[in-house]
Amino acid sequence: MSERTEFGPGRPVVLRGGTVLPMDDRRQVLTHTDVLIVDDRIAAVGPDLPVPEGTVVIDATDGIVMPGMIDTHRHMWQTAMRGYGADWTLTQYFVWYYLEHGKLFRPEDVYAGNLLAAIEAVDSGVTTVVDWSHGLQTVDHADAAADALQSVPGRFVLAYGNIQQPPAEWTGAPEFRDFISRRITGDDMFGFQIAFDVTGDPAFPEKAAFEVARELGVAVTTHAGVWGATGDDGIKLMHDHGFMTPETVYVHAASLSADSYHRIAATGGSISVSTESEQSAGQGYPPTWAIRAHDIPVSLSMDTSVWWSGDLFSAMRTTLGADRSREHMQAQAKGDTVTHGSLRADQVVDWATRGGARALGRDHELGSIEAGKKADVVLIKNEHSPVSFPLLNPFGHVAFQAQRGDVHTVIVNGRVVKHEHRLVDVDLAAARRRIEQTVDHLRSTMGEEAWQKGMNPDIPETTILDNPYTYTDYHSSSTHSQ
Ligand SMILES: [Zn+2]
Repeated sequence: MSERTEFGPGRPVVLRGGTVLPMDDRRQVLTHTDVLIVDDRIAAVGPDLPVPEGTVVIDATDGIVMPGMIDTHRHMWQTAMRGYGADWTLTQYFVWYYLEHGKLFRPEDVYAGNLLAAIEAVDSGVTTVVDWSHGLQTVDHADAAADALQSVPGRFVLAYGNIQQPPAEWTGAPEFRDFISRRITGDDMFGFQIAFDVTGDPAFPEKAAFEVARELGVAVTTHAGVWGATGDDGIKLMHDHGFMTPETVYVHAASLSADSYHRIAATGGSISVSTESEQSAGQGYPPTWAIRAHDIPVSLSMDTSVWWSGDLFSAMRTTLGADRSREHMQAQAKGDTVTHGSLRADQVVDWATRGGARALGRDHELGSIEAGKKADVVLIKNEHSPVSFPLLNPFGHVAFQAQRGDVHTVIVNGRVVKHEHRLVDVDLAAARRRIEQTVDHLRSTMGEEAWQKGMNPDIPETTILDNPYTYTDYHSSSTHSQ
């Protein structure tokens, strides 16, 4: 537990003299600027602000002050298996979670994963996360997921899912309705969505689940455009039945036709791009190039820590890299050279902040730094890092230079939850104990052989190409020269 008690409830906070990225339409950069926070709101932004008596002062000199980042798609329960699937493909992921071992997760295991994921998010400056929680095989699991999220001082959206049953079944269960009436109270810090995928089966078995979402007035989030799993047929069914709405968040959307992108654009939905995921799991090429061409709103996400990191610096970096890689490859295939890149650093910072707020319909109060908005604010500053200066291009600095260790202060809903690189009032040791129990349970239930086999998939044989400049010749000629 932290000893820091200076951040009492109701005590205003001012971040003094930072380089502020308000993430407004003009993409302004405000140097030597203060941000004053009173209660749960940003009270003022400007130079040398007068502050109320008793205000806590945080020195933001040489740092970047930006909105808290928003991750619109993360399977938080899977953080209990951090890094286990580093060498997986999507097929191996499906086999492990959907077919073989997902059922082994008890409510306390979902709790442990969600708890660690929530702490990890806040620590890296991700102040809002959509928990695409598809391990909720019973309502006890759902209560555990909610309990964990509500025990951490971040903003979370529980996207309720269950891979062990068809969506029409679990969304139609009375205990699902009961869960919503018990747990979803309109709390600003704890939102709700429904999470399921559309297979493209012409019988449209997901229709009843969409009807439940519509009746409840809840957004649906769905993995759409995942190679070999979901595609254009699902989008068409959703569109034909009127279930594509502005609140709908399409995840990946990496293997869709132009027709599907047109339908998404025309109905006002947004796409959550998980570049690190798409690059190694195989949903399709990270689609920002296509999404930009269809003028569809974008948000960023990390998908799952069973493979990847849980910070949005990685998301911004890989998204820029993938978009630019493709642009160069496309041009070079035609013998051309890209002289001016299309995707800019300020755009991915926008997607990581305001893009997430737009996707969640909360652009009016989250995702930007402006007087009157909710105080979800991050200070990136690290006096001990040689990477912290010079600070010439703040958007480029956030996208390519900064990392989670540089997150100095995090404020969520006006509350300081991290300061001077340390989490405030977060019991990491307790989270560690819970994770250890979950890992012990899974490992002993699976057995050592299955555990190791799951983590170490077979490697396909690599065919080494014939090389006309043979090593033998090289070796003998170099020997001669000596
Ligand atoms: Zn996912």
